[in-house]
Amino acid sequence: MKEENNKIIVIGAGPAGLAAAARLAELNKKTKVFEYSEKVGGMAGSMKIWGHIVDFGPHRFFSSDKVVVDFWHRYVKKNFVMVKRQTRIYFRNKFFNYPLKPFNALKNLGLRNSFISLISYFKSKILPLEEDGSMEIWLSNRFGYKLFKTFFKTYTEKLWGKSCLELDADWAAQRIQKLTLGGALKNALKIDFNNKHKTLVDEFAYPCIGNQYFYDELKNFIEEFNQQEIIFNSQVSRILIEKNRVTGIELANGDQHNCKWLISSMPITSLIAGIENVPQKVTLASKKLRFRNTLLVYLLINSENIFSDQWLYIHDPTVLHGRITNFRNWSPDIINQNGTTVICLEFWCFEDDEIWNMRGEDLINLASKEVVQIGLVNEEQILEGKLVKIPKCYPMYETGYKENLNVVIEFLNKIEGLIPIGRYGSFKYNNQDHSLLMGIMSAESVAINKTPNLWDINTDSKYQEAGYSKDISNS
Ligand SMILES: Cc1cc2nc3c(=O)[nH]c(=O)nc-3n(C[C@H](O)[C@H](O)[C@H](O)COP(=O)(O)OP(=O)(O)OC[C@H]3O[C@@H](n4cnc5c(N)ncnc54)[C@H](O)[C@@H]3O)c2cc1C
Repeated sequence: MKEENNKIIVIGAGPAGLAAAARLAELNKKTKVFEYSEKVGGMAGSMKIWGHIVDFGPHRFFSSDKVVVDFWHRYVKKNFVMVKRQTRIYFRNKFFNYPLKPFNALKNLGLRNSFISLISYFKSKILPLEEDGSMEIWLSNRFGYKLFKTFFKTYTEKLWGKSCLELDADWAAQRIQKLTLGGALKNALKIDFNNKHKTLVDEFAYPCIGNQYFYDELKNFIEEFNQQEIIFNSQVSRILIEKNRVTGIELANGDQHNCKWLISSMPITSLIAGIENVPQKVTLASKKLRFRNTLLVYLLINSENIFSDQWLYIHDPTVLHGRITNFRNWSPDIINQNGTTVICLEFWCFEDDEIWNMRGEDLINLASKEVVQIGLVNEEQILEGKLVKIPKCYPMYETGYKENLNVVIEFLNKIEGLIPIGRYGSFKYNNQDHSLLMGIMSAESVAINKTPNLWDINTDSKYQEAGYSKDISNS
């Protein structure tokens, strides 16, 4: 065991772990951060390819929490742009606004489908189906079955690899803006009674030189201001516990480090696997918590004008990918001004699916074929491709997950000094803001020697995009 003065250890240098270490540094507390990879930012980082800066899929910043908004602006300072959001659904060669705008949707659907959609919408209002906690019923009751089937079913089932009947309504409630005709009318007439700021439906913040910038600034602050260390290429494999109190960690290379507090953003399932003598009931429950993986295929396109959205949702059931990001429409400073554009196609799968184990070259060919098939680019325009695999990035809110998660939470709550945070660290479908908030709050508690309760962050079913991304501290 290495003797150290640092008694607070953070596992992971993604948004959650970095926010914890930075906030502790702000409070003059030292930490040691162990990061599995060779860089900070986790899933929310960026990389440089073909002279362009790109993120791991689309990453806009938004939050309804002032603490998080202020924290982000403290580090990004003036180095960000406000992006006018345009993210549509591309379906049957037509672009539908997303979040759905009823008049635009009905116009694009044509007379017959519009009529059926309206009847089905009103039917869902007059005779709603009995809620059973499933995503299918939740969405059908809010949009009508016809609109649900047209705009949500295929995409959602591509993302999760399961029928909407087997998915918990939690995800939809947090992520999908409800449809009200009153709201639509207000929108259409541009009436805005009490919104001083545009909501996230309209615009979002983004660092001028890519999402990685914020995390690099956090890293610089952590390393320079308080002489804290971030130790890269260090996988934590065991959690050391004595008499129900965390005492340290062990790395994959066998090195051990002691601590009084352990803030962990490693996958909750790996955390459980790294603890000795876990009751069988807890191990079984943890094994039932599943994640979905993402394959990102980047294509270099010889054109500047492919589409004007930051990303498109692809509902076409004949192709496997479900979303395409166009990095030309984020910030001018991330683009290589040589007439080319980078787009990124997302494919979602489980670890044992054939597609997860396909060769990079074959996936690039598949992505190229699909993007040509749906009519967005020509074959001759595709210059190069690159594959990035992101394991365990979507915690699955499938029916029954809450019971299993509660068994795991109950067990972890009994271990003093251990604080699980983050997207896969706490099995919450977090955006950056929730992970940042968990990091900040864990730091503030540890600084006063208290165990926080963070399990309730990001569990409500409030629509999350009603927040802000501008600095609202002076308004
Ligand atoms: C395709 C895609 C699009 C997204 N779009 C948005 C968006 O538009 N806006 C938004 O706000 N959010 C978005 N997100 C979500 C956002 O990326 C996450 O919420 C955020 O990255 C979660 O941060 P985290 O720190 O909890 O986890 P992570 O980012 O996963 O960081 C965890 C870190 O822990 C490290 N680690 C793991 N295991 C160990 C171990 N055993 N030992 C040491 N280190 C370990 C990992 O290497 C990683 O660096 C998106 C995510 C994806 C996948």
